[in-house]
Amino acid sequence: MPCHPARARELLGKGRAVVARQVPFTIRLKDRALPDSEVDGVQLRIDPGSKGTGLVLTDEKREADERGTDVTVRRGLIAIELQHRGDQIHLRMRQRAGYRHRRRSVNYRYRAPRSDNRPRPPGWLPPSLRHRIDTTLSLATRLCRYAPVTEVHVERVAFDTHAMGAGRPLSEAEYRQGPLAGTTARAYLHAKWNSACAYCDARGVPLNIEHLRPRSRGGSHRVSNLVLACVPCNEAKGSTPVETFLSGRSDHLARILGRSRAPLHDAAAMNATRWRLTEVLGALGRPVHAWSGGRTKDNRSAMGLAKTHTLDALSVGRLNHESGDAIVRYPERVLVAKATGRGSYARTTPNRFGFPRLRRARAKQHFGYVTGDLVRATVPRGKWAGTWTGRISVRARGQHSLTTPRGRVNVSHRNLRLLQRGDGYGYGGRPEPTPSTSRKSS
Ligand SMILES: [Zn+2]
Repeated sequence: MPCHPARARELLGKGRAVVARQVPFTIRLKDRALPDSEVDGVQLRIDPGSKGTGLVLTDEKREADERGTDVTVRRGLIAIELQHRGDQIHLRMRQRAGYRHRRRSVNYRYRAPRSDNRPRPPGWLPPSLRHRIDTTLSLATRLCRYAPVTEVHVERVAFDTHAMGAGRPLSEAEYRQGPLAGTTARAYLHAKWNSACAYCDARGVPLNIEHLRPRSRGGSHRVSNLVLACVPCNEAKGSTPVETFLSGRSDHLARILGRSRAPLHDAAAMNATRWRLTEVLGALGRPVHAWSGGRTKDNRSAMGLAKTHTLDALSVGRLNHESGDAIVRYPERVLVAKATGRGSYARTTPNRFGFPRLRRARAKQHFGYVTGDLVRATVPRGKWAGTWTGRISVRARGQHSLTTPRGRVNVSHRNLRLLQRGDGYGYGGRPEPTPSTSRKSS
């Protein structure tokens, strides 16, 4: 069971436990085995996102409140934010395609275009999206190994693209500012327009839902007629048709109109990955429950929690606020696991024209260390004298580069001690923001 750091220190100090893993910090009891223990079990809650995914272990129990009625009380025990590298993978794949394209075309002789003779297997996902599922599943598998996870709760979809793409007009409540705002239509429009004003590209400002063809001129509530606009643009446009409002900027107008009718590929893919994630989580051998994004948002705002991936994950699943169900605690510190990959297959570093500029070393291991290893360095003298713990990047000459909270330092391999092998993630931490309302966490 996840325990308090003080308890872990006590167990380690008395010699009753040993460190099994440094990050996430895991200890193993030496004097007791699972059959002789009473373990309550914890729930794993997952909020998948395109840039980051929140994973939280919770302890949910029925407890009597001050009036003596039974309510569900949920406590967050461990919070992990997984940062994906889908964009980086996408960029690398584009780069590779460019190099291959150049290799094919550089001979200046005609080559017939290759037919698309490599059919993709059913359920194929692009590498940048498959990576999200693979990393989330691998971290979930690890959490199931370290903690007694009895059930998995996962948020499945943020918005229903099928219902919207089919041309179903949105109901009044769905598009208006109201209790439903932000659950479906708003989330869809934010994804479609990258959370920016369609007219001036302003970001980080309040955005209104705006009709391209105004309501007063017969415009509908269909999503193809809706964009996001900042307040000044929204007021300036008023009930002018978009063609008149953007009459001086014809290319901008064409772009908006083209995009407003285009289906939302990214968001559809994001939804596809969420569906797939729910499927693959079945491999954990625990019951998997899928919940809507609207319910997560309701729970989070009812508890007055800030919007982070981990607090969203904590809010996934059923909570009956009216009858007094509550989230009473969340971890103050979040473990941030940033997917870094395990190095590159490329043998050369090219210049901007794609010609080889540097030859890379064939070996990834130098003097027993690989990039990404967690090490403890003892620097005997100099400006950096002392003991440092962090992730290293290896150098062929053995002066490895160590990332410390105060900056990077070069340390000889002789002064290093290996704590944990690199596993494709860089670990860090961040504090969880305090609740936005007066509701206190205990
Ligand atoms: Zn604007």
